Amino acid sequence: MPIIPPSPADHEADFVTDSALGIDHATAPDDTRAEDLQAALACLDDAALFISGHDAEDRYREDWSGGRGCPLAVLRPRTPQHVALAIAAVGSLRLPVAIQGGMTGLVGACVPQPGEVVLSLERLNQIEEIDETNQTMTVQAGVKLQEAQEAAAARGLLFPIDIGSKGSCHVGGIIATNAGGNRVLRYGMTRQSVLGLEVVLPDGQIVTNLNKATKDNAGYDLKHLFIGSEGTLGVITRAVFALQPLPRSTQTAIVSVQDFSQVVALLRHCRHRLGPKLTSFEVMWRDFYDIVTRELSIGRPAFPVLGTHLVLVEAMGQDPDVDDEAFANVLGDFLADVPHTDAVLATSIAEASAFWAVREASGEAAAAVKPYAAFDVSLPIASMENWVNRIHGQLDQLGVTRTQTYGHLGDGNLHLVAGYPQDRPELKLQICDLVHRSIGELGGSVSAEHGIGITKKPYLGLSRNPEEIALMQAIKRAIDPHQLLNRNRVFDLP
Ligand SMILES: Cc1cc2nc3c(=O)[nH]c(=O)nc-3n(C[C@H](O)[C@H](O)[C@H](O)COP(=O)(O)OP(=O)(O)OC[C@H]3O[C@@H](n4cnc5c(N)ncnc54)[C@H](O)[C@@H]3O)c2cc1C
Repeated sequence: MPIIPPSPADHEADFVTDSALGIDHATAPDDTRAEDLQAALACLDDAALFISGHDAEDRYREDWSGGRGCPLAVLRPRTPQHVALAIAAVGSLRLPVAIQGGMTGLVGACVPQPGEVVLSLERLNQIEEIDETNQTMTVQAGVKLQEAQEAAAARGLLFPIDIGSKGSCHVGGIIATNAGGNRVLRYGMTRQSVLGLEVVLPDGQIVTNLNKATKDNAGYDLKHLFIGSEGTLGVITRAVFALQPLPRSTQTAIVSVQDFSQVVALLRHCRHRLGPKLTSFEVMWRDFYDIVTRELSIGRPAFPVLGTHLVLVEAMGQDPDVDDEAFANVLGDFLADVPHTDAVLATSIAEASAFWAVREASGEAAAAVKPYAAFDVSLPIASMENWVNRIHGQLDQLGVTRTQTYGHLGDGNLHLVAGYPQDRPELKLQICDLVHRSIGELGGSVSAEHGIGITKKPYLGLSRNPEEIALMQAIKRAIDPHQLLNRNRVFDLP
């Protein structure tokens, strides 16, 4: 199912302001530097490798954060060796590089800053091997997530990561951001599925460890340094993913409950009764569900009387003869025990897709309340209800017009969108400060899955202590002393 997103331009900027972030649309690329780079790369003899900044299409200028920049040039290597040579060439000219995957990132990290060369991985798009014995896929960084999922399914295997942007995002991008998504409850974040990795370091060295075994304690497990590092330490060129058996049955339901304590009770019940079969537990508050189903007419309200929260529950199993009935019984027992709850079970793939369409309409829903500030936070489930109620009240007092609240609740991950009046742009910063500070006070994370990039940089210190940030900076200095790759993303170096 490809995503049909509103264009990045419709998707209101998650930026505080472009100027505050040093994004300068007016700066034209420096032609002399671009010509030097083109000359340095001429030996690669690849006519499609180099695009000048003037000719760069919009897709190299803006990601889903809504930020926009102007690259010095765009490089599109088609092999890991060419990535290495390209990085060595830009390094020799001390040109900073913005690494780009599928450009679905939400924190502005891919937007070229003035003077930066874009390195796009879009031509590294080969699935090199599916090893059915080891249940692994060896894949180049620029393969789209959905293509990897489909290729695995065609061999009876499951590519375990699944996120709303799968039609556009790359496997290299999901590794660089350690993406989460809809099946973290069962399969973990992307990190848990990566067995081997190949990266190009800022000096142009290729470091290859395309390991296929789950167990490998031979010294430091270096791949974990690069997974989730948001392109600040190396360019991911290839990876080995652990695949899973393709489930033979899927059960999907929407459950309506009357308060947050019933959401928590349902999560506990499903975990206990479904065990590892539980793949997704997605909660939608009414402020999100009503906009999607009523105003955007995506899906339709599943119940005559709606509760305060709607929960999308999904399980996957290997035994179609018993799984459907077992799932129905699990939910039936919950409804019998907990008053005023209701559930609809999907009886076809089309119905299950319609349930998911509501949850995955987050981009369209946010666009409907723009301008807005969007948040991706995590906090202990026990603190969630109080936090949501308190923050809704505080946002209301601040002048926020509408909120949308939803999330991958089983992982403690909440998304919050706060719409504010068009004529009060100054509110955005106040909203961001308020939400992130309150999360920091509770010991939560200001970025559950989207990363820090540029837009969340001011808030990193709310979720990481000074010693941790100093260690991150020391690692960056050691691996990338000239700050060539994704400079000033995640943190600034003094
Ligand atoms: C509709 C929608 C739904 C989304 N849902 C989720 C979700 O459920 N869970 C979630 O975690 N995220 C989600 N996201 C955010 C985004 O899709 C993910 O962060 C995704 O992993 C980004 O992949 P990409 O290929 O588009 O990377 P890009 O946006 O191109 O890049 C993201 C970061 O990774 C770096 N990078 C990209 N490729 C490489 C590489 N080969 N080597 C080194 N660095 C690289 C970039 O420099 C940048 O820092 C969603 C986004 C949208 C628009």
